[in-house]
Amino acid sequence: MIRQPKAGLERMPGMKPSSSVSSLASTEKQDVTLSSLMHYTQRPSAKTTGPLQQTGRRHDDRLDERQQEMAEADDRLKGPLIPKKKRKKKSLITVNLSGTRYDVIRQMSEKLGYAVAKDDDPNSYLFWNDCFVATDRISEMKSFQRINHFPGMGEITRKDCLARNMAKVQKQLADDFSFAPKTWILPADHSLLLNYAKDLRAKKKTKTFIIKPSNGAQGHGIQLFRNAEKIPQTEHFIVQEYIDKPLLMDGYKFDLRLYVLVTSCDPLRVFLFDDGLVRLSTEKYLAPTEANINHSFMHLTNYSVNKHNEFYEKGESLSSGSKRSVQFFREYLRQNDINDGLLWQNIGDMIVKTLIVSEPHLLHAYRMCRPGAAPGSDSVCFEVLGFDVLIDRKLRPWLLEVNRSPSFGTDERVDYDIKSALIEDTIRLLNIKISDKSRNMAAQKAEARKRLFRQNKRTDGPDITEYEKKRQSIEKRKEELKETLARIRKVSAREDYENRNRGRFRRIFPPDDKIRHERYVQLLSSTFGIFMSGKAPAMQKEIQRVYNNKLKEVDVMDMLAECEADEKEGKYYTGGTGKPRGPKPLLSMPVSVPSPLENDEDEDEEMEDEETESMSASGSPSMARQGYHPGRRPGSSGRPDSRLSNDGTSSTFNSRPNSGVRSRPTSNMSAANQRSRSLSRTGNGKHTPLQRSTVQDDNFLLSVVKEREDELTRKTLVALNEMRIKFPGKSDQEAEYILDKLHENWKFHKPRIASYWLVKLDSIKRRKVIDIVRSNVRAVLLRTWRVSDVDSLKVYRIFNRVFNRLLWSHGQGLWNCFSSSSNATSWEAIFSKSSENICEAELNCCRRIVQLCRDCLLIVYQFAAEAKSSQSNTPHPSSVDEHSSTGQSISARDKSLSLIPPNTQTMSQKYSKLYPATRTPSMGS
Ligand code: ADP
Repeated sequence: MIRQPKAGLERMPGMKPSSSVSSLASTEKQDVTLSSLMHYTQRPSAKTTGPLQQTGRRHDDRLDERQQEMAEADDRLKGPLIPKKKRKKKSLITVNLSGTRYDVIRQMSEKLGYAVAKDDDPNSYLFWNDCFVATDRISEMKSFQRINHFPGMGEITRKDCLARNMAKVQKQLADDFSFAPKTWILPADHSLLLNYAKDLRAKKKTKTFIIKPSNGAQGHGIQLFRNAEKIPQTEHFIVQEYIDKPLLMDGYKFDLRLYVLVTSCDPLRVFLFDDGLVRLSTEKYLAPTEANINHSFMHLTNYSVNKHNEFYEKGESLSSGSKRSVQFFREYLRQNDINDGLLWQNIGDMIVKTLIVSEPHLLHAYRMCRPGAAPGSDSVCFEVLGFDVLIDRKLRPWLLEVNRSPSFGTDERVDYDIKSALIEDTIRLLNIKISDKSRNMAAQKAEARKRLFRQNKRTDGPDITEYEKKRQSIEKRKEELKETLARIRKVSAREDYENRNRGRFRRIFPPDDKIRHERYVQLLSSTFGIFMSGKAPAMQKEIQRVYNNKLKEVDVMDMLAECEADEKEGKYYTGGTGKPRGPKPLLSMPVSVPSPLENDEDEDEEMEDEETESMSASGSPSMARQGYHPGRRPGSSGRPDSRLSNDGTSSTFNSRPNSGVRSRPTSNMSAANQRSRSLSRTGNGKHTPLQRSTVQDDNFLLSVVKEREDELTRKTLVALNEMRIKFPGKSDQEAEYILDKLHENWKFHKPRIASYWLVKLDSIKRRKVIDIVRSNVRAVLLRTWRVSDVDSLKVYRIFNRVFNRLLWSHGQGLWNCFSSSSNATSWEAIFSKSSENICEAELNCCRRIVQLCRDCLLIVYQFAAEAKSSQSNTPHPSSVDEHSSTGQSISARDKSLSLIPPNTQTMSQKYSKLYPATRTPSMGS
């Protein structure tokens, strides 16, 4: 933009008018005006006489026109002298708030300088939704985007899921998880509840119970019971032991609404806001009796309930009324000589442990949705959770529930003060940068290029010399070290940013306290053991590596320097087989591939633009192959576990002590030199001729990739069509026959299969059913596409969205596919809304996958039924478990399905004991 001269300068005495830019321009302007006028008058007369006169327009009209034309000519000529620079549109970070009704989100976004998108803009940087978000929406997000929900969070935010998960961990870790009141899920636990009540009666004790809808909120449907036997066996309700001795404030019961921000689950990062709401009931509290159990203003503390009481007091400040601030409450405790610090610490501990329970579910679901994301890369999901906490008279915090969409309504001043600060600090902590978008695009391009070269490159063929193998192996290790280094730097840069921008948040996981940290990591390990069963060991290893990483930046730099020194001297590591040493790849969880973007993101912020530039413009075949960019590793598996381990114990490099005392007699000087060389950037951001030609070749290369991908997709379809679900111990024909029988008697089986799939199986088991198909599809892709990291294939990302869709809404996605209505193809809608184009062959693959998943459920269901009936010959209708009691009746009633010869029955029994129902069936092609 041209700066206007300062007014003061223009007015300076003695300064000639022509000496300023503007005056010069105005002199020129006069000349120009004259010349253009002359030019105008010399025009052919037809222009002036013809049409104008014919239409009889007045002379002064023509004059106006002339003036107008003169002015335009003036402008045209003025152009080169004072170029009118187009004002560059300032790009802003946009927020999509179409999914939220809370104005405070908009206010805080604008306060931070973000622009609110006018409509439902899919390209916004930040999305805020009041409701739960479908998993395929999360799969579709670009890596620069952020959305305020995690997939899998329902495992702690639905009351029945929380109860079920807590019960599981309480069985093994009772002391650590005693903060959750005893809970029963109806109707399944009804008999357990009656037994408990019986025990109480035997001990001459009475307890009060509170029943709540499993998916309820705002106090709806809540009731108190003094006698458990009177509790109806209602579906979709939970029963909880009532905490009947709560801490009171001025004689009123209250609970705390605390706000917790989860910024990532891979790895887990949790922050607790240092304020929140204290919500008081509006009738003085009395121990529950038959006479007062219906007094909801006495026993419930919900604002939505108590606001209807005439005694509800709207607070004028943070310290009065029926809603107050947590800061006020802590002050109140201090005034009453109560150690509020200890209570606050215990609350933080309870919150972390609750999230530790959720972590196996979150991580699994997140990696399913984001299969290409490197662990530790910026999370596209974050979540502000509302924890409802009750404190009893002994100052013990109890977890009542976790809300995934806490209210951000600001009816009262206390609401506004707390929630606006909370939202502002949340958005700031997300660290969204305008450059995130361009880096994303560069990464996509680099990814396509990487795919192309990976397919062309052979590292293990017979024609590859021993020397070349070794060279590649050291090259690979160097890349791994660079990635590790980048990750370490990223973690420290992130922590640095968080420390500077956390506002009123305090990070509670990972905690700073070492002892606490160790305990939490142990608990994480245990919860993975509890929820992931067979797949746990690999995850536990990963947990140790991620959370107990003791490797420092300087250690990695030294290793890298040594590695380069070896390379220079021609000393190649020979691992015997030539295979890189290090931990085995993880097969238990969907693992991710580090994309070039994420590796580049690992650099500190000042380097970002430079890096982006080099990413998008460089990348000649040779450069890409030789890994000139830190973190770019074409041809490698990309699994985090095949890379260098960070824990200093299990990998080739880590076998050396981390103390800095190196076993090799490399001089410090040379190591330092090597290090600086290894870390210095290649290029200065300007393009070499080779790089320029690569940019030009991009389109050609991409079209080659596309053609090849189309061909491989067609081959994939053929392989999928040949695939069959295997029933253990039965031939393919027998399995087909079972499927036919189930379809023939569909009317009979439908409600039973629905109950088995939608109710009896929990989310992990449902996922396992889908995973039977998923793992086989992966195997097909591995074979057909000959890649080591299936996760990075576009076609796999598409399939993954279908798998996620089938698991959508607690399995409803797959169940819809059984419906004969138009719902049967409702999963296809995920592609119609998506920006990603999919071709017919890809869609056909997806259709086949859906078919396989349907068959798989039927086989699993039938297998469970047969296993159950062979275990017990005297079925009891109330003994409903995941083996499905319904199956007993199937076997009993439909003998034609019992095709298993005796020896196979034994095998099935063994299988079902090993892995009830869902794991056993496999696939064959
Ligand atoms: P909702 O989601 O409907 O608000 P909550 O679980 O938060 O359900 O319960 C509503 C209110 O009921 C709480 O704010 C609390 O006052 C009371 N409450 C819930 N569970 C218990 C319990 N186990 N013991 C004592 N009070 C409880």
